[in-house]
Amino acid sequence: MALQRSGDEPGTTDDSSSQAPRDEEHHVAEQDEFDMVILGGGSGGYAAALRGAELGLSVALVEKDKLGGTCLHRGCIPTKALLHAAEVADSARESETYGVKATLEGIDVPAVTKYREGVVGRLYKGLQGLVKSRKVTYVEGMGRLVEPHVVEVEGRRLRGTNVVLATGSYPRTLPGLEVGGRILNSDGALALDHVPASVIVLGGGVIGVEFASVWRSFGAEVTIVEALPRLVAAEDEAISKAFERAYRKRGIAFKTGVRFSGATQDDDGVTVTLESGDELRAEYLMVAVGRGPVSEGLGYEEAGVSVERGFVPTDIRLRTGVEGVFAVGDIVPGLQLAHRGFAHGIFVAEEIAGLDPQPVIDVMVPRVTYSEPEIASVGLTEAQAVEKLGADKVSTYEYNLGGNGKSQILGTAGFIKLVREVDGPVIGVHAVGTRMGEQIGEGQLIVNWEAYPEDVAALIHAHPTQNEAMGEAHLALAGKPLHAHS
Ligand SMILES: Cc1cc2nc3c(=O)[nH]c(=O)nc-3n(C[C@H](O)[C@H](O)[C@H](O)COP(=O)(O)OP(=O)(O)OC[C@H]3O[C@@H](n4cnc5c(N)ncnc54)[C@H](O)[C@@H]3O)c2cc1C
Repeated sequence: MALQRSGDEPGTTDDSSSQAPRDEEHHVAEQDEFDMVILGGGSGGYAAALRGAELGLSVALVEKDKLGGTCLHRGCIPTKALLHAAEVADSARESETYGVKATLEGIDVPAVTKYREGVVGRLYKGLQGLVKSRKVTYVEGMGRLVEPHVVEVEGRRLRGTNVVLATGSYPRTLPGLEVGGRILNSDGALALDHVPASVIVLGGGVIGVEFASVWRSFGAEVTIVEALPRLVAAEDEAISKAFERAYRKRGIAFKTGVRFSGATQDDDGVTVTLESGDELRAEYLMVAVGRGPVSEGLGYEEAGVSVERGFVPTDIRLRTGVEGVFAVGDIVPGLQLAHRGFAHGIFVAEEIAGLDPQPVIDVMVPRVTYSEPEIASVGLTEAQAVEKLGADKVSTYEYNLGGNGKSQILGTAGFIKLVREVDGPVIGVHAVGTRMGEQIGEGQLIVNWEAYPEDVAALIHAHPTQNEAMGEAHLALAGKPLHAHS
């Protein structure tokens, strides 16, 4: 284990930071005292560390692998780099549509990987610099909660007046489905050194459709298998139907409402059997059936923290039930998103510093499905709004991107759907189409600030941008449509 205190050279060991006397004869481990000890240096953990340090708290951040966690090294960033490479491939392939003569010769996966790793590497370096400059005590090693307020890292005891559990998540599989060889999870998919000729993606949620999109753009034959009735089933039904139409058009095959039964692999590929008796064959199978919590064997339950199916339930203020022990990020049941983790981390640091921050409410967290096309949403779907308020209290409006100049220029279909409480604020913003993820910034302001359509209609949206579609949708919902046919 290397203990790095800010200001030291990376990797140096700083034993002088120990405040407890070392008593080797009696094997009493070293102990440090902090205002906050954070177990896990992913999005949730490092955000808590940075904000805590900013607020003048003494902070120890324990990480067994790489600072930045899943999002930076195996999640958000590398996959978005892949999607950008995929977009470049699509642009080359479709260049003639725009009068440009270019040919797509192929995908050089090692070169894509080099580009992707360059992006991750620069961000990683920046993050390491931030943690160092904020005077966070960074402790490398596997940590365990050995007492409610003590994290032990390879024999060293770190005592926190407050402890933040931020150990994140891992890619899950199904019972009897072993990952290995030609059966990949998202980590294995990122490590592939070539574009497979064909892939079956098990799971049509955000991670599954994201990889399906990349591989299709790179030229693979892709089939998604999803047990739920539709792809990206957590999204508004109209949005997910439009998304399915776009995938069909792109030649991405999918089977929904079907359950996986088994998979066998040989030297040439994988055969997947479905409960319906159907068989599918491809070069690889990617398992994208969700992410499980990392909590086993970490001493949580022994320290009195309740654990449910591996997750750590908390109250709205992210308290675990054990005084001074909080949990943040993917181990807290709910949305598994990096920016939710950041928000949790900031919240807990501010709570500990006594700032009485606003809690993080999952439904108000913006969500983006990154793919071609993209889905963006925040707030309630139409079905959720109807369930909550009753059908007579909900109105909706769909603005078709066909009327939006920039979307026409990009050649994308799609729409923005607004869900409104009748005579009240906009309570859901949903969008599907190329680059629609970029619109969710305004969407979340609208929903979180409980804006009325009339409020947004009064704001000016630049022409020609895709963002203009957001303005147009609100103009129409406020009863004064401009470029809208209905
Ligand atoms: C393929 C993929 C794509 C994704 N894309 C997006 C996206 O585009 N946008 C988005 O918002 N989210 C995305 N996510 C989800 C996002 O990565 C997670 O929501 C986020 O990383 C959760 O942060 P966290 O801090 O809770 O956990 P993690 O990032 O998993 O971090 C937990 C950290 O704790 C460390 N740790 C665990 N146990 C111990 C221990 N005992 N001792 C010391 N350290 C320990 C781990 O090494 C890890 O670094 C994606 C995920 C995947 C897999």
